Amino acid sequence: MEIRKVTVVGAGTMGNGIAHTFAQSGYDVVLNDISRELVEKGLAMIGANLDRQIKKGITTGEGKDAALSRIVLDTDLKHAVASADLVVEAATENQKIKNEIFRTVDASSPAHAILASNTSSISITELGSVTGRPDKVIGMHFMNPVPVMKLVEIVRGLSTSNECAAAINGTCEKLGKVPVEVNDYPGFISNRILMPMLNEAMYCVMEGVATPDAIDQVMKLGMNHPMGPLTLADFIGLDVCLAIMGVLHEGLGDPKYRPCPLLKKMVAAGHLGRKTGKGFYDYSDLKAPAR
Ligand code: NAD
Repeated sequence: MEIRKVTVVGAGTMGNGIAHTFAQSGYDVVLNDISRELVEKGLAMIGANLDRQIKKGITTGEGKDAALSRIVLDTDLKHAVASADLVVEAATENQKIKNEIFRTVDASSPAHAILASNTSSISITELGSVTGRPDKVIGMHFMNPVPVMKLVEIVRGLSTSNECAAAINGTCEKLGKVPVEVNDYPGFISNRILMPMLNEAMYCVMEGVATPDAIDQVMKLGMNHPMGPLTLADFIGLDVCLAIMGVLHEGLGDPKYRPCPLLKKMVAAGHLGRKTGKGFYDYSDLKAPAR
């Protein structure tokens, strides 16, 4: 099946990056969120990121205009998916919200459409089970920032068909990405391994072992990580980190995955990282160095 029309549900950090990447690769894109303000904010972010790509010589002014011309904004989910070949859900990391979206999308999209989720940790098998087409439900886990990062972790639910996986692998290649297939299991591979490390760095802050800056320096200079764990957590969003730790803790039932109390406290205070201007670092001047 040829995929030409893609609807992206959720216009936040990941959704606008996914819409940007598809539009830049020649797909027709519908970008959906719950309000006009949010889809417009997503589109403005895409424009700003395309400008950054122009400065870096990755695209041109014409390339930017062509990509933007392929994106349509639509806040009515049923309407937004009515002629989609592929729906990529990138809404808030919350099982109830995603179940509701998958039910609506299943009822309103063409029978041939593949329904993908960009979830970091929620079960693809469970999302498939709320639809009448679990064979066409798959995880398409893009990395942040989407236009830059090569990997897409392809997550096969228990019922995902080989045809669906093949179509999505092919689509990733058309986007210039590298798909890597994994099975549905809490946190998949990327977050099963990454999040406990970020969580441990937060325990080190809470226990006063070192400052965030010192912890990040140790991991950057000592382990050759391009970004320290606390800078990365701020970049991902602390609410997203907490949600993923919750899924690992519940899904694997092992206390080693308990979310750090400091992470819970920061999320309760609304200190969610870069997106709110404050996390382990302060971004209020918007000039915080990329560590
Ligand atoms: P975000 O908070 O930046 O954006 C989520 C968006 O979803 C918001 O704009 C919100 O209004 C919208 N939304 C909520 N309910 C909706 C609904 N019913 N219909 C349409 N839109 C709705 O979050 P994010 O960081 O972009 O994360 C989105 C998804 O991507 C999550 O599943 C997350 O786990 C996953 N993810 C995040 C990262 C990351 O680094 N942030 C990386 C990989 C995957």
